Amino acid sequence: MTIKSRFAPSPTGYLHIGGARTALFSWLYARKHGGRFVLRIEDTDLERSTAESVNAILEGMTWLGLEYDEGPFYQTERFDRYKEVIQKLLDQGDAYHCYCTREELEQMREEQMARKEKPRYDGRCRHRKEPREGVEPVVRFRNPTEGAVVVDDLIRGRVVFQNSELDDLIIARSDGTPTYNLTVVVDDADMEINYVIRGDDHLNNTPRQINILKALGLESPIYAHVPMILGADGKRLSKRHGAVSVMQYRDEGYLPEALLNYLIRLGWSHGDQEVFSLDEMIELFQLENVNKAASTFNPEKLLWLNHQYIMNSDPAHVAHHLSHHMGDLGIDPSEGPDLHDVIVAQREKAKTLIELAEISRFYYLDPQEYNEKAAKKAFKEEAIDPLTRLSEKLAQLDSWEREPIHGAIEAVVNELEVGFGKVGMPARLAVTGGAPSPDLDLVLYLVGRSACVRRIDKAIAFIQNH
Ligand code: GLU
Repeated sequence: MTIKSRFAPSPTGYLHIGGARTALFSWLYARKHGGRFVLRIEDTDLERSTAESVNAILEGMTWLGLEYDEGPFYQTERFDRYKEVIQKLLDQGDAYHCYCTREELEQMREEQMARKEKPRYDGRCRHRKEPREGVEPVVRFRNPTEGAVVVDDLIRGRVVFQNSELDDLIIARSDGTPTYNLTVVVDDADMEINYVIRGDDHLNNTPRQINILKALGLESPIYAHVPMILGADGKRLSKRHGAVSVMQYRDEGYLPEALLNYLIRLGWSHGDQEVFSLDEMIELFQLENVNKAASTFNPEKLLWLNHQYIMNSDPAHVAHHLSHHMGDLGIDPSEGPDLHDVIVAQREKAKTLIELAEISRFYYLDPQEYNEKAAKKAFKEEAIDPLTRLSEKLAQLDSWEREPIHGAIEAVVNELEVGFGKVGMPARLAVTGGAPSPDLDLVLYLVGRSACVRRIDKAIAFIQNH
C-alpha cells in the first residue's frame, strides 16, 4: 500500500510556524515511506479565504522545500462532488434537513445551560418530514447515539469518544455550501489519503469524521495529531512572540533548513543530536516519538541552528539564499569577489543572512564611514607613514595573491621596525570600515588591488583632515 499523507491548510493567513511543522511532519512521513504527499487548499470559507494567503502558503512551502507530489487541490473546485455526497447521505437516511431557526437554537442553548447541561443540538428535526415555510434548511449528519468511537492516534495513543457526547453536526449550510467535517472526509477518501497528520485542534473533530466515513462505507485513515506550539509565556504562539510567518524568517535571514531542523526538534528528539541533514530527518524521524504535550518555541535555539547552517552548508547553497539580502543592501555580488569566497571568509561571524550580508558589504562597496571607536585607535598621525608605504607596495606587486600581499605588509613592518598591528590595524580599518573580517591578506586579496589602494589612500586623506 502506498502511503499518502497531506497538508490541508485553510488560506486565511500566512503559513505560520505551527502549520509549517505539521506540513513538515506530514511530508517527512511520506518521504520516509516512499509515499506521496498531497497539498490541498481548504478554501470553502469564502469570506475568510484569500488569494494572497494561498500564495503565501505556496511560497512558504516552496521556500521550505516541502515539495508536493499532487495538488494543490482547491476545495472550491469540488463543490459538485460534496453536493453529491451530501445527497447520498440524505438518501440513505444518514443525514436530514434541519429547519430550526437561529432563535430556536439559541433558546435551546440557553435552556441547556440553565439545566447545567453541555449545549448541543437535541435532534428535534431528526424525524421531521415536512419542510417549514420560509426556512432554508441546513443538512445535519445523523450521528449514532450509542457506542463509542476509538481513535488510535499515532501520537496521542488511544482516545475514546462516546457517541452520546456528539451531536448531529451541520454538514451543509442553508446556502448549500458544505462544512469542514464533510469536505475533509470526502477529500481524504477521494484522494486516497491513508495518513492524516494534522494539528491537535482537530482531534475532537476526528470521531465525527470517522462516523461520516462509516456511514459512507469508507475506511478511516490513520490519524496523528500534532501538538501545539506555545510561546515562552505558555500561551499559543502568536504575533506577540515575534515572527510567526514562515516567510518572515526568510526575510530575517534564516536558511530554510535551519527552520526545518528547528521545527523537527520541537517535541521530537533523537538522542542528544541537534543538527540533522534532510536525509537524516527522513531516516530518523518517527511520528510515534513526537511528544504528546505542547512544545515551547525558543527563538535563541533557532538562531543558534541558523548559525550552524550558515557555517556548515555548501557556500553555493548559502550564496543562493544570501543573494537577495545582498540585493536589499544595494550590492550586486557579480561585481566584485566571488560570493562563495566571501561567504567562507565571513560565515563564522554571522548568525543570520542579514548579518552575513552586512558584514560582507565591504568586499563590494567602499566603506562610507569608519567604526568610530576603531578609528580613534587606529587612525592616528603615526598611521600615515605605514599606510602610504603599504599602498605603494600593493600598487606595485607583481601578482595579486595572498602570499605576496602578506609579504608587502611584512616589508612595511620590517622597514619601520614596528609591530604588525601598527600596519595591520589601520590598513584593516581603511579597507573594511571596521566590519568583522578574517586574516588581513585574505581580506586585501578578496577586495582586490585597485579597491585596496583607493581605500587606503582615502584613509590617509581622512587622517590628514581630522
Ligand atoms: N484546514 C484545516 C486547518 O487549516 C486542516 C484540516 C485537516 O488537516 O484535517 O486547520
